[in-house]
Amino acid sequence: MTLVDTRTPNPDYFIAGATGDWEMVIGLEVHAQVTSESKLFSGSSTRFGEPPNNNVSFVDAAMPGMLPVINEECVRQAVRTGLGLKAKINKRSLFDRKNYFYPDLPQGYQISQFKDPIVGEGEVYLDMGDKVGEVTIGIERLHLEQDAGKSIHDQHPNMSFVDLNRSGVALMEIVSKPDIRSSAEARAYITKLRTILRYLGTCDGNMEQGSLRADINVSVRKPGGEFGTRCEIKNINSVRFAGQAIEYEARRQIDILEDGGEVVQQTRLFDPKTGETRSMRSKEEAHDYRYFPDPDLLPLEFDDALIEELAQNLPELPDEKQARLMADYGITKYDAGVLVASRASADFYESVAKGRDGKLAANWVINDLFGRLSKEGLDVRTSPVDAGQLGGIVDLISSGDISGKIAKELFEIVWSEGGNPAQIVEQRGMKQVSDTGAIEKIVDEIIAANPEQVGKVKDKPSMIGWFVGQVMKATQGKANPQAVNKILREKLGL
Ligand code: ADP
Ligand code: MG
Repeated sequence: MTLVDTRTPNPDYFIAGATGDWEMVIGLEVHAQVTSESKLFSGSSTRFGEPPNNNVSFVDAAMPGMLPVINEECVRQAVRTGLGLKAKINKRSLFDRKNYFYPDLPQGYQISQFKDPIVGEGEVYLDMGDKVGEVTIGIERLHLEQDAGKSIHDQHPNMSFVDLNRSGVALMEIVSKPDIRSSAEARAYITKLRTILRYLGTCDGNMEQGSLRADINVSVRKPGGEFGTRCEIKNINSVRFAGQAIEYEARRQIDILEDGGEVVQQTRLFDPKTGETRSMRSKEEAHDYRYFPDPDLLPLEFDDALIEELAQNLPELPDEKQARLMADYGITKYDAGVLVASRASADFYESVAKGRDGKLAANWVINDLFGRLSKEGLDVRTSPVDAGQLGGIVDLISSGDISGKIAKELFEIVWSEGGNPAQIVEQRGMKQVSDTGAIEKIVDEIIAANPEQVGKVKDKPSMIGWFVGQVMKATQGKANPQAVNKILREKLGL
């Protein structure tokens, strides 16, 4: 990879050291398991959680004489992903053997793509907020490769087992350019990439199950200077761990350099218990994989028609959806960004907002519903309040039938008891009193009963709040606040 610096150093990201400021440089290699029924070169199932060695064909077990056959759906998924990353699709690519020995790799090599990957350069956009703004992270390449099996060391006191269920499952390795400059950007990048893959339906993005994992390359330098020597932290399986590993690793490298030492290029492991990284192997111990084109596989070739077809059927992706929600519903960029974090939440919002006040709908979906859902460990798909019910609450606010305050109570009722919001309001007498005659009567009573306050309010108009409070108390919060204010001002002569 030829390394090009595309970024202007951002002082917000600088790390203070004893010898001045430092800047991180980060590049990620993300392994994403392809969503497909069967493996990359065999018909075995990819289902997760099966009994050990249940999903193993002769090809996956590398029986002599078995031949790999490319799974067309995996190819289509890789092309879809390339299109979603606005990347160059290579109509001709090659499969290579990456040779190494490991007990869970029965072939003695992994079939991967080395020199000629299926997808070339692309881009991922990050919105890093007001200070940093929008950032473009370059994608170097995406290639297809096989996953290995799994060695199991904790089931027997003096034996290890091998489970080949994963052996041969298709992975996409997505390699970024070294364009990332902070742990926050690395977290945002993994999150955004995962969102794009989920929208595309090409990887479930489930990091706990290992469907998405990242190797993180970290180096440090003086701001804007030459790239430093990097260390690669292997197999990070959570966004939070990625942030912790980077912070630790950058500080470790800065300390070495400020002590007059040199960073040694290494592969390192992150320990979530201590938050530290430790050396796994140095560059000298690195494997020589002896890559060569797999003689069992022809070059992978397809034509423009395939790319066209997949491009035409691509779903609306998060960046486009965000722009459209802002335009269609008049909501802020920030709110739209929250809503498009998943397709399910964006769809939920649109069902609530369609034909209603988009901003009001966004407030209720994001602040009230999402706030409550995350507190309870739920998400939009398991929400006890559905889009129809939340839309009903928004309707009652818009029509002036209930106040914002009553709406919160109504939301609580719908959340815990379910039901139709309009019926609940009717049955429980929660309607806002907008009837001016009724409000006037209450205002008259309060004025008559509180001559002292009436005397004061003329000099101190802000005291009107006290009167509003009294009216609300008398009506159990059901008086329309605008009407109350208007009548009070008239009667008090303000
Ligand atoms: P390899 O295949 O040996 O791991 P690559 O050159 O393909 O090496 O780079 C792998 C990853 O390391 C890429 O994501 C790239 O952006 C990143 N990278 C390369 N140089 C640096 C550097 N000096 N600091 C941080 N990341 C780097
Ligand atoms: Mg690497």
